[in-house]
Amino acid sequence: MQVRRDVPLADLTTLAVGGPIERLVEVEDAAELVAAVRDADESGRPLLLLGGGSNVVAPDEGWPGDVVAVRSRGIERTGERLVVQAGHDWDDLVAYTVRGGLAGMEALSGIPGSTGATPVQNVGAYGQEVAQTVTAVRVYDRAEKSEYTLTPAECGFAYRDSRLKREPGRFVVLDVTFALHAGELSRPVGYAELARRLGVEIGEQAPLADVRAAVLELRRGKGMVLDPADPDSRSAGSFFTNPIVPAELAVEGCPSWPAGDGHVKLSAAWLVQHAGFGRGTRQGHVGTSSRHSLALTTEPGATAGELLAFADRVVATVQEKFGVTLEREPTHVRP
Ligand SMILES: Cc1cc2nc3c(=O)[nH]c(=O)nc-3n(C[C@H](O)[C@H](O)[C@H](O)COP(=O)(O)OP(=O)(O)OC[C@H]3O[C@@H](n4cnc5c(N)ncnc54)[C@H](O)[C@@H]3O)c2cc1C
Repeated sequence: MQVRRDVPLADLTTLAVGGPIERLVEVEDAAELVAAVRDADESGRPLLLLGGGSNVVAPDEGWPGDVVAVRSRGIERTGERLVVQAGHDWDDLVAYTVRGGLAGMEALSGIPGSTGATPVQNVGAYGQEVAQTVTAVRVYDRAEKSEYTLTPAECGFAYRDSRLKREPGRFVVLDVTFALHAGELSRPVGYAELARRLGVEIGEQAPLADVRAAVLELRRGKGMVLDPADPDSRSAGSFFTNPIVPAELAVEGCPSWPAGDGHVKLSAAWLVQHAGFGRGTRQGHVGTSSRHSLALTTEPGATAGELLAFADRVVATVQEKFGVTLEREPTHVRP
């Protein structure tokens, strides 16, 4: 376990904003993670857990307590079942499954961050989400001060949401278990743009490696793969989730998908763009990505305050124009 002082949050987050951390505690395994969390809780220091820092807006004032950076690594394979340490790099895990002939997460290639954060917002892309393969999440519960395993039902997964997100700060993810499908073919492709790129129909399968390559190519084209040379990837990915509204409130012209129970999911990208924030709309050091209106990006010198003010303007304009409330996807962390 390593402790450092006054490291800026900006250095640990993909949006590259956020002030100095009082104590940065880097932990290498699950036991160190639990010990670091218990130590912060017992001493009353505010605690922030950080994996890859790719889904947070960090405060300009910094963090007046402990930031625990989860660096535990390791994949344990038993047949089609994988137990993965929380700090393990997500895309390294996806690459491992594709190499090892295990299907179920190939469409989630190229998503930055740690494995332990994936159940938090039920990470998803290109027709897959982790809720389809997660079978157990081992946690330390800060309220109960105990370690146990959550079943998928107890995780309460929903679209870009889970109980871990709805009860912020309570659960520390230690490891995640996934059940995958042995074979060289992907799970049925569930996303039109990906199916087109692969030359298959929706519902058909394709070689795992081809799916991974196609997803990475599509993502790179939108600045959705972290790359220091690509200013469009200085983001938290999509900044807003696709709003789910009663079908009668669907917006004319806006692409939508059935969301069950008489509801539809609207394209947040369309709403943002048609509210006047097309690709490359800039204000100060922040704005929309030049290749994807849903990703807000920062330039050197940006602050969290500037970014959140821009996001608020987008939300207010979409509300005024279309009567739809956009929800932010990244967490604005505060002590
Ligand atoms: C370029 C880019 C593209 C992206 N594309 C996608 C996408 O396609 N789909 C998608 O769903 N997301 C996407 N994201 C968002 C992000 O990558 C994911 O949400 C990712 O899972 C966050 O992982 P992280 O380790 O960086 O989490 P962090 O940003 O470090 O943390 C996110 C939240 O989880 C909490 N947390 C972190 N680790 C733990 C733990 N071990 N236990 C409990 N809580 C924890 C944090 O406290 C915080 O509240 C993208 C982001 C970027 C920058």
